[in-house]
Amino acid sequence: MIINGKEISLKVKDEVKQEVERLNEHGKRVPTLAVILVGRNPASMTYVKNKEIGCRYVGIGSIKIEMSEQTTQEELLKQIYTLNADNTVDGILVQLPLPAHIDEKTVIEAIDPKKDVDGFHPVNIANLFLGKEGLLPCTPYGMMVMLESIGYDLEGKEVVVVGRSNIVGKPVALLALSKSATVTIAHSRTKNLKEVCQKADVLIAAVGVAKMFDDSYIKAGAVVLDVGMNRDENNKLCGDVDFEKCKNKAQAITPVPGGVGPMTIAMLLHNTLKAYKLRENIE
Ligand code: NDP
Repeated sequence: MIINGKEISLKVKDEVKQEVERLNEHGKRVPTLAVILVGRNPASMTYVKNKEIGCRYVGIGSIKIEMSEQTTQEELLKQIYTLNADNTVDGILVQLPLPAHIDEKTVIEAIDPKKDVDGFHPVNIANLFLGKEGLLPCTPYGMMVMLESIGYDLEGKEVVVVGRSNIVGKPVALLALSKSATVTIAHSRTKNLKEVCQKADVLIAAVGVAKMFDDSYIKAGAVVLDVGMNRDENNKLCGDVDFEKCKNKAQAITPVPGGVGPMTIAMLLHNTLKAYKLRENIE
């Protein structure tokens, strides 16, 4: 089975859209997402544009704040404090990466955790760690929704996550653990990576190396989630998994593009609505 991220993400977006419409009908204000873009990194500009398109689709208000590459950290923090204090703003997202002279950690920590729709703030990470209500990081959350949507129960399953970044590898491992999977986190120093991957009922590839995982890494009947977004030798977008080689051996697999990628924006919109509801005390 090919897990269709476009279809599943559309379902998530349509649910958000319906809920926003319902709020509108009850005379409530529209949830609003503010996105800050520092500099003109072409990939970042595309991501920000796609977030605006997503907001428009579901009826969430969007504010785009473009700041120059030369913006100082203090100026950026000041902008964040203004948005923190603005009661009409429910979500704040600072598009990463930031220019080298700005410290990402300091910037993320400046965002009000209640408006941290990326789920990167230490308070939200702690909530995830403790299994408390909070805003979950979008890409890992999206993968959980994908598994749910194909009716896959993680309880007791062997999950191997390759990659230990704070934004993908570690949080998706915690989410799988919270669903009672037995979780292994592998990384660049893992010995016998192939053998480790071969025992996985669910293999999550979040490395950033084009087509690194061929069918020799996966157990027959495994579920394979590919987070990687890379360019192959022909400059075509591809994942960390060699899709053509693995698609017949896996029980279910996500393609790139059209797999995990579309889920990220869908979950961002979901998080913005959730942040709004939590702040407004709406069930
Ligand atoms: P990072 O570069 O932060 O982390 C990569 C991880 O992979 C590290 O933990 C690293 O190990 C590990 N790694 C690197 N090379 C190897 C190797 N040869 N064998 C085993 N492990 C290895 O990346 P991100 O987590 O931010 O992103 C991973 C991929 O996912 C990228 O392609 C990125 O573009 C994509 N991505 C996609 C998103 C989406 O929406 N679909 C969202 C976010 C990311 P170590 O820690 O030891 O260095």
